[in-house]
Amino acid sequence: MCGIVGYIGHRKASDVIINGLKRLEYRGYDSAGIGLLNGELNVTKCKGKVVELEKRIINSDDTSTVGIGHTRWATHGEPNDVNAHPHWDGDQNFALVHNGIIENYDALKKELTTKGHIFLGQTDTEVLAHLIQEIQKVAKCDFVTAVQMALKQVDGTFGIAIVNKNEADSIIVARKGSPLLLGIGDDEIFIASDASPIIEYTNKVVYLDDDEMAIINRDGYQVKTISNIELSKEVHELEMSVEQIEKAGYPHFMLKEIHEQKETIADCMRGRLVVSENRIVLGGISEVLDRLVNARRLIIAACGTSWHAGLVGEYLFESLAKMPVEVEYASEFRYRDPLINSDDVMLVISQSGETADTLAAVREAKSKGALVLGICNVVGSTIARETDAGIYTHAGPEIGVASTKAFTAQVTVLSMMAILLGQRRGKLNDKYASELIQEMSRIPDKVEQILKQTEAMDEISRLFTYAPNFLYLGRSYNFPVALEGALKLKEISYIHAEGYPAAEMKHGPIALIDEHMPVVVVAVTDHTNEKMISNIEEVRARKGRIIAITNEENSDVQRLAEFAITIPSTLDPLSPLLTVIPLQILSYQIAVYRKCNVDQPRNLAKSVTVE
Ligand code: GLU
Repeated sequence: MCGIVGYIGHRKASDVIINGLKRLEYRGYDSAGIGLLNGELNVTKCKGKVVELEKRIINSDDTSTVGIGHTRWATHGEPNDVNAHPHWDGDQNFALVHNGIIENYDALKKELTTKGHIFLGQTDTEVLAHLIQEIQKVAKCDFVTAVQMALKQVDGTFGIAIVNKNEADSIIVARKGSPLLLGIGDDEIFIASDASPIIEYTNKVVYLDDDEMAIINRDGYQVKTISNIELSKEVHELEMSVEQIEKAGYPHFMLKEIHEQKETIADCMRGRLVVSENRIVLGGISEVLDRLVNARRLIIAACGTSWHAGLVGEYLFESLAKMPVEVEYASEFRYRDPLINSDDVMLVISQSGETADTLAAVREAKSKGALVLGICNVVGSTIARETDAGIYTHAGPEIGVASTKAFTAQVTVLSMMAILLGQRRGKLNDKYASELIQEMSRIPDKVEQILKQTEAMDEISRLFTYAPNFLYLGRSYNFPVALEGALKLKEISYIHAEGYPAAEMKHGPIALIDEHMPVVVVAVTDHTNEKMISNIEEVRARKGRIIAITNEENSDVQRLAEFAITIPSTLDPLSPLLTVIPLQILSYQIAVYRKCNVDQPRNLAKSVTVE
């Protein structure tokens, strides 16, 4: 995962880099480091967050205008000062930051050790630095060639940035599988893992693709392949603003993002939901729509919260479009020799558009001839570029590590797709399609009504702050919501939680229920209401503490629950867009009561760019 920032220009590099690393900290935050080039090359690095690094360099009189920085999410070697990036080569001529995994590092390390290299830490990254050094020594080549030769010898993934004191005023970057972009300013160039560190300086970016590198110096940049073929790259203009990546008065990004959902769902539907014409227009997939409509099967692949959105998608596509769907963990899909061919359509979902497992699934499906579509939030991300077509969620930058507004935007896209496919496949009658389209347009207002209950929910959250376990139950469209509610709680409050289809409870988890077990029931779906009420009775009979998410009219569930959070009614297929919101608030409030780091939960990172 990790975040990389680099700078070459006229500003104080350490200010740009520290600022940028703070913006990228959601990608990894176990240690941080900086390498500044000013005739000499000075490396400062330490365990902990970027503020720890900042404390160490704040009083330095370094005026460098060239440098690289890194905030780490450890894969190889514990998070400590030595394993923090940048990593030196053995002669301390250059320093390198890396995002990704060098999979053959162990064999390379053994070989280099026999040649006399001494390693200071345990990372795979340090091995790459020594490999470049060794190649340059043996091949007696220039530095760029040595970097190219080394990168051809490594297996795995990398986004790297290197500064070398013998190559003053220049930075070399390269990528394979880990994101990197260049920000092009006036007489200055920025390097970053995503656009958030550079947006306050420039909106012009060049995305590096796999197997590409750039050599950046004061005169500009040159992009070529790792095999040394020169390339001319398009400069893209970003629409992101600085305000979108700041907290806007909220104590945490997560709370800000929960509250933004009333706008982000509307943004996601803007121009796509044409209520007056009872129509849905999804421009991003218009050219491939016929193939999608006639697909034999839809395979949805994703990870984490996006996988939960995919499960909601399965219910939607099957019910509204009568389309056979399978939902896959992207990480499993690739290694299972999946049966997929050109009659199938794969739909991948990823907020960042950089999720390594999901990207691997994209490539697997493409290699087998399937049409591959993407639902991504980050414009210009690798998955967005590698899929055949796709739909952006337009939720704006999501900084909180626990995903909230990205989930509802993904479900919004899936709902629109399912309605459109239902219409095009002739499986959805006009009346119901029109009801669904009209109701979708009301969802943002209903979300706002739920958000007004945030304070009222505080008492419930406080009461269950120290519960060691939680059970979440839902049926039909709200079974994936139960999974998502449990995941949110686990991620940010570190309370063990399980989501289950409500009826499955009696096949195991019911054994856990006693008077200490909070059981969150998502009980709004009309066509399973009676069954759900029976499941609630089963919990009550065993003295479980019932917290119900239910709708205003559902007096039965309200009566049975110890605590009821009521939300506006909606049509069943659209209910996940509402029911998930109280669950996000509940997990947020509990995590705050438990004094957890809500935006940067331990061991996690937002954009999972390692497999
Ligand atoms: N594999 C490298 C390490 O463990 C880089 C991890 C990252 O992407 O932050 O240091």
